[in-house]
Amino acid sequence: MADKSNADQKDESVVTLAHGAGGGAMRSLLDDLVVPQFAGDGESTVTEPAVGLPELDDGAVHPVGDGAIVVTTDSHVVSPRFFPGGDIGKLAVAGTVNDLAVMGATQPTALTCSLVLEEGTPTADVKRVIESMAATASEAGVQISTGDTKVMENGEVDGIVVNTTGVAYVEGGAFVTDAGLEPGDRIIVSGTMGDHGISLLSAREGFDFTGDLESDVAPVNAIVAAALEAGEVTAMKDPTRGGLANALNEMAGKADVGIELEDGAVPVNGAIASAGEVLGIDPLTVANEGKVVMAVAEADAEVVLSAIRGVTGGEEAAIVGQVTEDHAGRVVVDTGFGRRYLSEPEGEALPRIC
Ligand code: MG
Repeated sequence: MADKSNADQKDESVVTLAHGAGGGAMRSLLDDLVVPQFAGDGESTVTEPAVGLPELDDGAVHPVGDGAIVVTTDSHVVSPRFFPGGDIGKLAVAGTVNDLAVMGATQPTALTCSLVLEEGTPTADVKRVIESMAATASEAGVQISTGDTKVMENGEVDGIVVNTTGVAYVEGGAFVTDAGLEPGDRIIVSGTMGDHGISLLSAREGFDFTGDLESDVAPVNAIVAAALEAGEVTAMKDPTRGGLANALNEMAGKADVGIELEDGAVPVNGAIASAGEVLGIDPLTVANEGKVVMAVAEADAEVVLSAIRGVTGGEEAAIVGQVTEDHAGRVVVDTGFGRRYLSEPEGEALPRIC
């Protein structure tokens, strides 16, 4: 029998929690096992997507007629299933609506709901999750129109797992990737960073004594629609797993540009910042579930910013940095006293955050 020291060593023959953490281990799993099998070989008669699996964007884009279908999918395993500011149902619907929105698809056509339930889970919990999903879908202007339900034996799965897929149509080439940044673009975040990750971890650790920490989980499609209407958005992402640090590093890497972030300019809720210090976690490295980060053409930055601030949930939006030719693929933080790299976290600090 393997002792603990052996068990701690890297075993590549089995899946580990790191494979789900959104960092390097997950990327190599995708690169080694998934993408080569699913992505076309260029000789297929199947129409290649405009944005497909190798791009590892928030969703895929398939040209259809004069426009394109955008599709995205996500499974949700968050623990606890009810948390300050939301629950697994709200998270599932908002997460999928947001992945469509950051592809430029702000009017979702349809959502699916696939449930995997553990035998013995209170039906009152399921009801509460479903009601929350319906309410969030309604807020986002979409209906959940197909789904599936499976039940596994007690102990085979933890309570409730929710998978949601979203589909939307965009006109012409009006989709946005996470790779279109140009030097000179301004970086805008739609609000405070770290709320979901820090509040969830605090709730789990029993740190939220004053009860004022809340997840930001919410659909952002109205915010994104206002931004797209107002000016030229060159790239977008929802800074979920790995937070703003992960999103910006991915965006910089894909576009082969640098990003200069002004440290003091990134909005962070005071209670979240304090809890982050107690937990030893930087709010810029944990998940947000109701925010968007975008690159905007310099000339349009102010008008896009004020459009976002005019939408509920976007009041604290800020310009937090700019895109540069220098230090390509890296994110540099200007702390006011000096500069440092904001490196990509290996993944979320704890599993089951979303
Ligand atoms: Mg995403």
